[in-house]
Amino acid sequence: MDVKKIYMDADALLEGHFKLSSGNHSQFYLQSAKVLEDPKTAKVLAQALAEQIKESGLKIDTVCAPALGGLIAGFALATALDVRFIFAERVEGIMTIRRGFEVRKDENVLMCEDIITTGGSAMEAARAVEALGGIIVGAAALANRGFCKRESSDLIRKENCKLPQDIPFFALADFTFEMYAPDNCPLCKDGSEAIKPGSRGN
Ligand code: ZN
Repeated sequence: MDVKKIYMDADALLEGHFKLSSGNHSQFYLQSAKVLEDPKTAKVLAQALAEQIKESGLKIDTVCAPALGGLIAGFALATALDVRFIFAERVEGIMTIRRGFEVRKDENVLMCEDIITTGGSAMEAARAVEALGGIIVGAAALANRGFCKRESSDLIRKENCKLPQDIPFFALADFTFEMYAPDNCPLCKDGSEAIKPGSRGN
């Protein structure tokens, strides 16, 4: 499966010259939600991710996603795995399980996001699950931004990855790309101007 092509075709992976929210420049920009705009694509991606997880033999009772970013990917993955789906959301800044969702004691929970950057939101939500007695047995995302190391990838885990090293992390592809300080950007040096993703209405 050519995951990057699927993202490109959905305009979820943009190529050009972008000014990121960090202020850095990049040749690529990921607009993760766009790839899930077509439910058929969401289903295909989630099924591929579910296959990987099933092959690992990991036993999962429930998928939990941090809102908002992980909701669609998490629901699609739970559907493909045929398990329960719950989500955590921020209440006054703190990831919380509410809306009547319950976590049973010693229930095996897989955290899921659409994209894992450092895994910070997933782990905040994981703490809310653990507080209710759940056990975090793994993490999953459609895309890995390249700071964490997914199963069957040679990437080296970066220091800012927040996913614990003792649980597996499943993702379909690594989306690593260079980021440049504006005064050291080869794209600027070539004479083009960085645009803010979204300035064209996307
Ligand atoms: Zn630039």
